Amino acid sequence: MVNTEQLYHKFLECTGVSTDTRRITPDCLFVALKGDKFDGNQFAEQALAEGARYALVDDPAVAARDQERCLLVADGLTALQDLARHHRQTFNFPVIGLTGSNGKTTTKELIAAVLSKNYRTYATVGNLNNHIGVPLTLLALNEQYELAVVEMGANHQKEIELLCSIAQPTHGLITNVGKAHLEGFGGIEGVRKGKGELYDYLIQNSKTVFINSRDKTLMAMYRERLKTTRSEFTATESTAAEPTFAEAVFYPAVEATEEPIELLLESPVVVYRDSTGQEITTHLPGRYNFENMTAALAIGDYFGVSPEEANRAIADYNPTNNRSQVITKGTNTVLLDAYNANPSSMAAAIRQFATTPAKHKVVILGDMYELGNESEAEHAALGKLIADSKFDLVILAGKDMHYALGSLPKAYYFPDKFSLHNWLMDNPMTDTNFLVKGSRGMSLETVVPFI
Ligand code: ATP
Ligand code: MG
Repeated sequence: MVNTEQLYHKFLECTGVSTDTRRITPDCLFVALKGDKFDGNQFAEQALAEGARYALVDDPAVAARDQERCLLVADGLTALQDLARHHRQTFNFPVIGLTGSNGKTTTKELIAAVLSKNYRTYATVGNLNNHIGVPLTLLALNEQYELAVVEMGANHQKEIELLCSIAQPTHGLITNVGKAHLEGFGGIEGVRKGKGELYDYLIQNSKTVFINSRDKTLMAMYRERLKTTRSEFTATESTAAEPTFAEAVFYPAVEATEEPIELLLESPVVVYRDSTGQEITTHLPGRYNFENMTAALAIGDYFGVSPEEANRAIADYNPTNNRSQVITKGTNTVLLDAYNANPSSMAAAIRQFATTPAKHKVVILGDMYELGNESEAEHAALGKLIADSKFDLVILAGKDMHYALGSLPKAYYFPDKFSLHNWLMDNPMTDTNFLVKGSRGMSLETVVPFI
């Protein structure tokens, strides 16, 4: 068995870390992890044959086959996390941790775009935000960087606590707390508590918290914690040398015009004006993205990026991966937001779409996953919201979207996306704006070719 210290020395000889034999790079460290359907130990030999320098394994039989290059640990996942924690401790540059129900990746990318103007910034690649992704993110850091932005996702309690113990953020923010992963967290209160573990960590360790001051839930969560910290402080006065209070930075100092002052879908460019008169230009449609932008601007300001540079970074940022993309197809415009969906982000997208001007408006919405026994009620509530929003056509797809039909006698309903594809092929539309949104598992981006 190797301990973390020994493992760390081996890691330093390697060029990177991979948990996937399809992504072995020369001299990388292969980490064998176990999933429901696979056991990474079984791929260790192959990884070594393909150029990995060492393989971290937790199966003694596998380790026995190549004692030189197999590093045996008790548990692969725990060892990966311990290794990442150890590596993190060798850096003392700012690490910004962020979590929240919606908008983490978008906000992370915007923060990274802004901070990259002044710092060599490393940010979570894509959506690598879980108990495996966060360690891999940290293990990708090296002296070349001056700052890191780490996305942390969670769908149950204590997950953010664990990720904080690994990433040890010096700064952090919660984008928002909404109805996402209700099943794993045990309702909205559970989500508050689970996401709040980031505030717990930052406050207890006297770090900096960025808080959207217009978000009542986040403000309340912060205040609750300040109270408990204060009482702990009185109880342990001997530690008074250490600053007991986290620094809180409230944003936005400025507010945006309620609606974009300009919406040029063909570019696509959205222009907002904030209360100081400054224009903020972005490729991100959706009013909710303004919150994400203000977070990035506030953090940029805190770290000394000039407002001009920060605004330029935001204006240049182009979303990918089906997150809030605007696609022009003939005379139709598709607002493709098929990366994921939950009750909060659905409502935000529908309200936004309802207010944008267009000749004809059609919504194509797919199931919201992971809602557990609240799924029926949430899909039914969504039906009411759609009914109030008066679209020309409502198209619903997925098993649970059936529950939305109660309020929508005129909606078109398809149990799966394939029957929807066929219908779209048979019913071509023109001069229409489409909103396409559903959970990742619905893969609603597949409808775009049929529009
Ligand atoms: P995941 O949990 O998959 O990592 P995420 O929190 O990283 O998601 P993003 O990938 O940034 O979120 O955005 C996903 C979708 O969430 C967007 O396409 C949009 O529909 C919605 N969304 C983004 N920002 C907000 C926000 N501030 N409020 C509500 N909904 C938002
Ligand atoms: Mg994400």
